[in-house]
Parts: sequence; structure tokens; C-alpha cells
Amino acid sequence: MTSPAPSGSLTPSSTLPARVTVLSGGVGGARFLQGVLRLVETTRSTTEVTVVANTGDDIWLHGLKVCPDLDTVMYTLGDGIDTERGWGRTGETWHAKEELAAYGVEPTWFGLGDRDLATHLVRTQMLDAGYPLSAVTEALCKRWLAPTYGAGVRLLPMSDDRIETHVVIDDPDAAPGSGEQKAVHFQEYWIKHQAAVPAHAVVPIGADKATPAPGVLEAIAEADLVLLPPSNPVVSVGTILAVPGIREALAATSAPVVGVSGIVGGDHVRGMARQLLTVLGVEVSAAGVAEHYGSRKNGGLLDGWLVDTTDAGLVERIEAAGVRARAVPLMMTDHDATAAMVAAAVELAGL
Ligand code: GDP
Ligand code: CA
Repeated sequence: MTSPAPSGSLTPSSTLPARVTVLSGGVGGARFLQGVLRLVETTRSTTEVTVVANTGDDIWLHGLKVCPDLDTVMYTLGDGIDTERGWGRTGETWHAKEELAAYGVEPTWFGLGDRDLATHLVRTQMLDAGYPLSAVTEALCKRWLAPTYGAGVRLLPMSDDRIETHVVIDDPDAAPGSGEQKAVHFQEYWIKHQAAVPAHAVVPIGADKATPAPGVLEAIAEADLVLLPPSNPVVSVGTILAVPGIREALAATSAPVVGVSGIVGGDHVRGMARQLLTVLGVEVSAAGVAEHYGSRKNGGLLDGWLVDTTDAGLVERIEAAGVRARAVPLMMTDHDATAAMVAAAVELAGL
């Protein structure tokens, strides 16, 4: 193992090994992957990156299958993302959404852009014709990823089976103080309620009976390095881990598993990780998440864990839990900053 350089002195010099597997959510995972690919580019590596993406956010809307995290990764890496919003297509228009609203069709809180709609139409047609989601994703990626990366990037859904994350919340329609709860789709919790209603449980419905999509277990078993981006530990990485077999594959792989904290200074950088970690009773800190994932030495997931420099004081505690830890800048402000973060993960892995 190479000895870690002091915090703050990193340049993206560490070379990625031949096969890297990344378990990704949407925006955080996609931005992290841009850093991975920048590092591949600057070090002229011949790395093959396999992305296993969360599909627990998937939702059927207006008869169409929508896969937000798969699409965020695909559009981001394929240069089709709206960079300001972080999701959806660049140059998007919303005529179909307006027309649906004029018909009074629900739900009105989830907007499908006109350009984005084409993706969902193609996907749904292929699913209706009998293709599994993994084959559909591969077909969509022929447009978005293959022209730029060839065989260098492969995007896999975590499963071909239908899995939908639901969140149990205080029923907003019940009388105040009644204590009544209801389960809503994760998208309803996040987009309609802005994660601002009291939540009590997070349930990846269908996960217990699901199987990993073709290639997922192999990508973990045959990897030289497995990376966990700063993706949401509950509804992104947590949902991927809920698919039977994936956690076991991570425990068994000979590749080091290194993660990056999405919690910086005691809160998420964006999104709703704070609220959902609280639901699980996990301390909202870089150390709390590391302990939640656990050390591989003790039946957990992690060999290494990166925390932000502002959380340098937590390194000792994380190492005491059996996870090699290091503090480096973790803000994904641009591709080079993110590539430096990925390089630190490679160093920490001892590759
Ligand atoms: P989502 O599916 O779109 O919510 O995206 P992910 O689950 O992949 O990533 C969301 C997580 O990424 C959030 O919990 C954020 O705290 C984290 N995140 C976003 N931007 C940054 C960043 O610049 N640095 C770090 N360390 N974490 C980030
Ligand atoms: Ca997501």
C-alpha cells in the first residue's frame, strides 16, 4: 500500500486500475463519475468503468416508465444534461407538461420535459416488447455513451425487476395530531413534499424478491476497485444494497471497496440524506455513514472512506471502526476537483 499524502496536496496522478465498478445514484453519482472519467482521460488509462445504478426511484407516470437515476447518469456522461438543474435534458421545453396540466391529469408535481419524454417513450415501448430494463438501458446508451466512451463505460440498472422506494410519512391529508401515516412513492416525498414532512420509514418495495441485473454481480466480483460515490446512503446506495446478492458480492470481491462521504460538516451537500439518515437512526456525519456501511473486516462494506477536510477530526474515529480513512477536499466543483477526489480514493485503496 502506498502511504497517503498529506491532505490538500493531491493532484490527479493516481492511475485507475483496469476494471472499476461504481454504485451510483443520480446527480451525486453522475458528478462523481465525471471525475472518474476525467482521471481516466488525464492518466491515459484503459479503464473500463461499470456503473451499477439505483432504480428504486423509478416511477410509472402517464403510462411511461421513468428511471431518474439511470437517465441522470446517461445524460450527464453523454453531455445531454441540464447542468444548472443537475437533472433532465439541456434545452428542455415543457409543452407536454402544460398540456397534461390543462387536461387536469395527475400527478402535476412531476414534470416530464418534452425532450426527456422521448427517452421514456422508447424505454416503455421496448419494455412492452419484452426487453428487460438492462437491455433497454444498453440500447439507450448506444446514443449517449457509446459514441464517446466505446466499451469504456457500461451502465447497468441494479435489477431488471420492479423496485420502488416508498417513504412512510405523516399523512398530510389527515387531521393534525391524528398520528395517521401513509406510504408514498419516494418521488412524492422528495418532489411533492420536498422531504419536509415527518418521515418514519424507507421501504424499497420489491427489493427482497428482486435479483441483480445481468452483469451486476460479475462487475463487482471481477472489479479491481469498487467505488461508492457520495450518493445518498439510504435511497441510492442503500437501495442498491437491498437487492439480494449485491451486499454479499461486495463482501466477497477481492477488489478494495472505497467510499466517499456525501455528508460534509454534518449535513448533506444537496438533497435529503440528512432527513433519511435520521429516519434510519444513523448519525448525520461522515463518521456516522462510515459506521453505518461498516468495515469489511467486521462484515461491513468499506475498506476505505474519504471525508472532507472540514471533517478531518473524524478520521481517527473511522479508523478505529476498522476503515482506512483520509480527509481531502470533497466538493465536486469541477471535473478536475472531482478527479483529485477519485485519485485520493485510488490511493486510499492502496492500488
Ligand atoms: P440523487 O439520486 O440525484 O439524489 O443523487 P445521488 O444519490 O447520487 O447523490 C446525492 C448525494 O450526493 C447527496 O446526499 C449529496 O450530499 C451528495 N453530494 C452532492 N454534491 C456533492 C459534492 O459536491 N460533494 C460531496 N461530498 N457530496 C455531494
Ligand atoms: Ca435518485
